[in-house]
Amino acid sequence: MESISRKTFIQSSGLLLAGEILVKKAGAFASGATQPTETGSKPVKKWMLKNVRLETGFVYEDGEVIATETGLFRVEIEGGKIKAVLPNDPKADATDAKGQLMLPAFRDMHIHLDKTYYGGPWKARLAKNRSVKDMIAFEQKELPELLKTSTYRAEKIIELLQSKGTNFARSHVNIEPTSKLDSLKNLQKAIENKKDSFGAELVAFPQHGVFYSHSEQWMKEAAAMDIDFIGGLDPNAIDGSVEKQIDFIVQLALDHGKGIDIHLHEGGEPGLKTVEYLTQKVIENPALAGKTFLSHCFVLARLEKPKLEEVSEKLAHARVGVISTIPFGSTIMPIPTLYRHGVTVMTGNDSIVDHWNTFGSGSVLQKSNLMAQLYGQSTELDLSRCLKLATCGILPLDEKGKQQWPKAGDEASVVLVDASCSAEAVARISPVKALVHRGNLVYRN
Ligand SMILES: [Zn+2]
Repeated sequence: MESISRKTFIQSSGLLLAGEILVKKAGAFASGATQPTETGSKPVKKWMLKNVRLETGFVYEDGEVIATETGLFRVEIEGGKIKAVLPNDPKADATDAKGQLMLPAFRDMHIHLDKTYYGGPWKARLAKNRSVKDMIAFEQKELPELLKTSTYRAEKIIELLQSKGTNFARSHVNIEPTSKLDSLKNLQKAIENKKDSFGAELVAFPQHGVFYSHSEQWMKEAAAMDIDFIGGLDPNAIDGSVEKQIDFIVQLALDHGKGIDIHLHEGGEPGLKTVEYLTQKVIENPALAGKTFLSHCFVLARLEKPKLEEVSEKLAHARVGVISTIPFGSTIMPIPTLYRHGVTVMTGNDSIVDHWNTFGSGSVLQKSNLMAQLYGQSTELDLSRCLKLATCGILPLDEKGKQQWPKAGDEASVVLVDASCSAEAVARISPVKALVHRGNLVYRN
């Protein structure tokens, strides 16, 4: 498990204290005179970068993309947004990006920041916990101990994510009778402490089942707090009824104007029924369209092709997204089919190191790389497209090689990587050299 040394990680508090500190210490940002000069939640007023590498088009040979064209530019940032992309001027009074490639900042759309071993001693998961119900029993003993340090550990994970180029996460947070609302409150503290350098949205997650553990009241209280999504968990396997749990979640989401993001591990008939029942509820309640997600959704990996095509089309039509933390053992999710139908697909680390899983690296660029490997996406064009898994859909070039990012007015949340183009960044999981969150430099290496 990689940890971030104090040397390489610039703490969010004070990292923008003074341009002069950065000028003295920075590698990539060595020679700049125009530096971010404000701290706090206010976006930096004005900031110019020079020698920024941006993708400008594809190079074709016999109709095939054989390379990606790039150029060096100046990028002007103001008020947390990209104000302008200008011709380069190596002599400009500006922060020197040294030819590194600028990409949209990465997004981790499925993680549990509230319960982790990360930030403490190494600990692998235990073999005795086989089923989700085993895990619930285990958590009932483990959570009180984890809660003692959960704010600190959430901050450590956020720092890890930042070092991998991620400036935003959707975190599930346990809502159950053991931790009550404390997981949520502790995580909210961590997010508040990091708010100038990291964005987050939260899913109230009934990890111990809604009815199985009598979490209804806690879920209702959480829904009235500052969360964004109502979560769920294997409705049939844990609560004994697809309809009962989904109806509860849907109503709670509608009553509070929230989205939905449920964990669905269970396969077979109940898994498929959950997908179809929830999709139907979203069609009946358009307020949920575009705000409803199925995390994991392994049942899709086991459907016969005609059924998979039918379900994928329904998901796209209802605007229900799928969040896949690929890979997951030998289960190969049908991500290319989902994309072909226009289903929103996102990814995340899920766990970094905790009692569920021990393999999280913190990098969603690594997930793009895994997707490329799993589905044989090895050409320049295909690799460049795989970047969208890390950036939540934003790509510098469209299918034809026309530049579509960055544009004036785009949020100035960007990453600088040591790569010549997106395809190389995905194939090599290129090192992240800097992360800018809403105009503020929050990490550099
Ligand atoms: Zn999860």
